[in-house]
Amino acid sequence: MLQVSSREKPFSVTQLSPARLATSLFATSFATRPVVVASAPGRVNLIGEHTDYNGGPVLPVALERRTAIAARAAGRWAFVSAVEQEVHEIDIEAPMRQAWTDYLVGVVRELRVLRAAPAGAEIAVTTNLPIGAGLSSSAALTVAAAKALSLMAGKRLSPAALAEIAFRAEYHQVGVRCGRMDQTIAAHGERGSALLFETASGTLQPVPLPGRLWIIETGISHRLTGGALNDRRRECEEALAYCREWRPGLNYLAQLSTADLPEVERRLPPPLVPRVRHVVTETARTRRAAGALAAGDLTTLGRLLVEGHESLRLHYQSTIPEADFIVASAVEHGAYGARLTGAGWGGAVVLLAPPEREARTVAEIGSDFQLRYGRMPVIWSTCASRGVRRETVAQ
Ligand code: ADP
Ligand code: MG
Repeated sequence: MLQVSSREKPFSVTQLSPARLATSLFATSFATRPVVVASAPGRVNLIGEHTDYNGGPVLPVALERRTAIAARAAGRWAFVSAVEQEVHEIDIEAPMRQAWTDYLVGVVRELRVLRAAPAGAEIAVTTNLPIGAGLSSSAALTVAAAKALSLMAGKRLSPAALAEIAFRAEYHQVGVRCGRMDQTIAAHGERGSALLFETASGTLQPVPLPGRLWIIETGISHRLTGGALNDRRRECEEALAYCREWRPGLNYLAQLSTADLPEVERRLPPPLVPRVRHVVTETARTRRAAGALAAGDLTTLGRLLVEGHESLRLHYQSTIPEADFIVASAVEHGAYGARLTGAGWGGAVVLLAPPEREARTVAEIGSDFQLRYGRMPVIWSTCASRGVRRETVAQ
């Protein structure tokens, strides 16, 4: 039986905060206390998928679940994560190891450029986010690390600076061709609000989100580095190059409007057309969704979520059958709407339902899913939470 009766305490969330756990992991790993503890949230993107690297808007929400970094200056770099509990002594100059520690190495290298890194540090990482589930554990890790390490170097960096360092660490150092959404919401998230982020202009606009969002994990983990996301980015770059032949001033695909789509169809190689169609329609949907949320029109918002999912399925081809199944089941069981969130090819579905029936709706989806796939998906809920912060942990 699915345990969704308590909205405040979704199951499978440890009740100890990541900050506390990071402090104790630090103590057991390094036999001393951390000096700085910082944390940053994961995020769920309500809508605006694959628009962030195409100059369009996104509408992410910072999760209550977070990643915490506990750190202390040391004469070496040594990293431990609760995920594997093994201490790695790291040479920051050495080639990347193709391991999780690369994210921290990337942050250190980017902080060094700004003279905002300590000479060395021992670092412990814990999280209550699912990792690789499209909920941005990677940006939670890099933003929290940028905060903790820059504080240790005596710098108080702005949320914008922390987001930029974390973006550069993931994009340039680790080599994931991500956009800037994840790092931006991890740094700028506000309690009780989604954030409309216009990626071309950098404008950030909080949009009140009073209720709870539900997360339904498909249980299929994606693998981003060098994978399908990079292929889609390449396709978008190619499509932009074609579009520039008839629109020389075009900077981003998201600058095209739906009225341009017939011309896109005439001029672009057929496989690229649906990619552009997704980006252009998703851009329009995201702005409409922000308007609907601001107006409290959750019915319209929900419909846009489902349309967004359909566009990912048909045009961007980044969904998986498990997510398609969950979205169809959500519509059937009275949700306002649902869609696959995050890069895709696995990950989680975000769902919005009327508060008076949301527990029943997700329980019914869970039962449907179990019948179809023989296992129960992990389901939990969250309010809009806040971005990166320093943590005080009792000594
Ligand atoms: P997502 O950001 O959606 O969770 P990504 O593939 O972008 O998925 O990032 C997941 C990767 O980030 C993991 O494979 C791991 O390398 C790293 N990572 C994130 N959180 C942690 C953590 N708490 N401990 C160790 N590695 C982590
Ligand atoms: Mg990520």
